[in-house]
Amino acid sequence: MNKKFRSGIVIFVLALLFILLILMGGRRHRYGWAKEPKGRIAVVTIMAGDAHYKWNTDDEKDIYYFLKILKSACNYIEENVARYGGSIEFIHSGNCDDKRLIKNKDFDAELSGEVHDTEAVDEFLNGEEMTAERKALMKEQKCRGIIYLFYINAPEGYPYPGTTYMWMQPSDPEDEFSLLYAHMKNEEISAAIVAHEMLHCFGLPDLYAQDPDGSYPLVTKEYVTHLKEIDSDDIMFSVYSGRARDRYEIPQSFSDTDAYFAGLLRKCDDAEEFGLGKPIYFR
Ligand SMILES: [Zn+2]
Repeated sequence: MNKKFRSGIVIFVLALLFILLILMGGRRHRYGWAKEPKGRIAVVTIMAGDAHYKWNTDDEKDIYYFLKILKSACNYIEENVARYGGSIEFIHSGNCDDKRLIKNKDFDAELSGEVHDTEAVDEFLNGEEMTAERKALMKEQKCRGIIYLFYINAPEGYPYPGTTYMWMQPSDPEDEFSLLYAHMKNEEISAAIVAHEMLHCFGLPDLYAQDPDGSYPLVTKEYVTHLKEIDSDDIMFSVYSGRARDRYEIPQSFSDTDAYFAGLLRKCDDAEEFGLGKPIYFR
């Protein structure tokens, strides 16, 4: 092999690595690590304790309620994906007795309160034990992605703004995690909230606000205004519980726009009319 040819190969490999790094970096700012809404996805429930609130694991009442909510959220996504011709199946501790699907984990960090220190969660998920468990779970249960839901025992009258969060895992392409609170300021956790957060894992953006710094420019200001004007019941626009009979029912709609961002529809009228960005699945 001559020298020129060898250095050509080295340059080619370096260029390839560089492109790969850029692609991976670009995806960091997007939801959708759990990939397209299809196939089998595991939902791991973590009853999380933090510096302020812990769970009393002897009392199974709360766990029962949460699993009922989770089941309703999973059914909602499965049914709506099927309506658009797709097929997704969730396994969670409500329908599968794999012990790895639910666990208790107490953190010293602050997961509730005004500042959310999620570094501890990142560390936990990327630690040796959970990394090995994730690989085994995916292989043995034949899953293509995992969603981690950290359920926090915030009490009634929890004083902080009523918000749950979905985070992208920066280092692993197969999972995302969300912090969910048993109670929020004016709201209890509901199936609609859990479904909304889970849908972020499949690339669906929030439709109620445009990202002010433009790092997530899928939704235009005009579209946000339009949805407000028509009092939209889209699940990515509002999870307001006033519409529901109880916290297990999800009256919100899964719209063509949601199906478009989930990669289930190639085109949708609103995307064209309001100049919405491209879903992460179409390039
Ligand atoms: Zn959201």
